[in-house]
Amino acid sequence: MSATNKPVLIAGGGLASLLLAQSLRRSGIPFKIFERDASFVFRAQGYRLRLSSEGLDAIESVLGAEAFQLFWDHCGKTGGVGFVTLNAVTGERAESEATVHPPLASRGGRVVGISRGDMRKIFADGCEDSIEWSKEVTGYELTGDGVRVIFADGTKSVEGSLLVGGEGIRSRVAQQLSGGKLKVYDTGARGIHGQAPSTAFKGLGEGVFILRDDTRPNGAVSVVTNVRPNGMDDPDAQLGWTMVGQPGVIRPPNEDYTVVGKQAADIAKSLTQNWHPRFKPLFDHMNESEAAFWKITCSTPSGVPQWPNEPRVTVIGDAVHSMTPAGGLGANTAVRDSALLGRLLREAGGYKPGVTAAYEKEMRVYASAAVHQSYSTAVRQFGVKIDADTCTVEA
Ligand SMILES: Cc1cc2nc3c(=O)[nH]c(=O)nc-3n(C[C@H](O)[C@H](O)[C@H](O)COP(=O)(O)OP(=O)(O)OC[C@H]3O[C@@H](n4cnc5c(N)ncnc54)[C@H](O)[C@@H]3O)c2cc1C
Repeated sequence: MSATNKPVLIAGGGLASLLLAQSLRRSGIPFKIFERDASFVFRAQGYRLRLSSEGLDAIESVLGAEAFQLFWDHCGKTGGVGFVTLNAVTGERAESEATVHPPLASRGGRVVGISRGDMRKIFADGCEDSIEWSKEVTGYELTGDGVRVIFADGTKSVEGSLLVGGEGIRSRVAQQLSGGKLKVYDTGARGIHGQAPSTAFKGLGEGVFILRDDTRPNGAVSVVTNVRPNGMDDPDAQLGWTMVGQPGVIRPPNEDYTVVGKQAADIAKSLTQNWHPRFKPLFDHMNESEAAFWKITCSTPSGVPQWPNEPRVTVIGDAVHSMTPAGGLGANTAVRDSALLGRLLREAGGYKPGVTAAYEKEMRVYASAAVHQSYSTAVRQFGVKIDADTCTVEA
């Protein structure tokens, strides 16, 4: 088998990996994806992602006009060009340093959003047969002229020409490749993600809102939600919200972040019990089974570190630059990686020495800027602070 006929191996089947796979499929480059979960619907895919102009451009460059139109039709488009921050207790508009946000609007002057689940399905179209499920990647080994993935059960993959680690914030490929230089810090801030029927959001009107409660003695709590104009009268339509608490405010039972459902819903309800009646339906009517805790982590705020390039292994998405939710940049940066690496591989006709070095050089510039922007916004919004000497580094 010649080097270029060996598949590109992709660890993880998230947004970044699937868009890269789509790019390879369209270039006729063989690939295999190894995903830890048993299927697309193994765990809740709930939250919506806001897409920036850069993110949309990257997705369009991979999908081409026809498939991008389908993707665009799936996106919700919300009017209003920025966040409206409301005092969660009084219901009044609130402005302060903590409520200054980067502009949100992208294409067409609207706020464009899509659920993570829909995005994955569209990106995966035509790639399904190349996904191997229930495959937990724990590392890799280089061969004479290729690379193999190592799985948790001790087995190994076929030999590939290149390995791309796209397994999110706990990427073992990233750890091995960078010799531990790629770090993910626990910011101490915690979140709860929730959903409620669209009727619960009617009191807010259309727009993107931050409901902020500064009255708690141990730290602020905010809820971000994006209320779209369509489907508000459909009794089955659900919209999501994301709650973020400053360090120490939200505590899951036994610090267990895998807890989902009623226990997470009850904490969200108790934190919002004195909130304005206009906002209460978001919590009173929430779909309790969908409530989930969320630990807010971030890569090294100064940017993506240097490591000696390994031509046959690289990393994309959260695996190389995880971000706080502030600024909504994580997925937008991840899809830029997929578009860039996919284009370089297409131009090279598959794996060639030099491709991953060229990708990493360009990625480091925009990804470092995004991590820095997200972190600076989170310092202001959520009061987080990463001290590299004292902060917990996620395992
Ligand atoms: C509540 C919430 C709201 C967000 N909102 C926004 C937003 O508005 N805009 C934005 O740009 N970003 C947002 N983000 C960030 C965004 O979701 C991530 O940046 C994006 O999903 C990263 O994509 P990825 O493919 O790198 O990783 P992921 O989407 O995390 O995918 C990683 C995949 O790898 C799999 N995996 C993990 N470990 C292994 C293993 N060992 N072996 C094999 N497979 C493995 C996982 O199951 C998963 O399928 C948000 C995140 C959260 C949690």
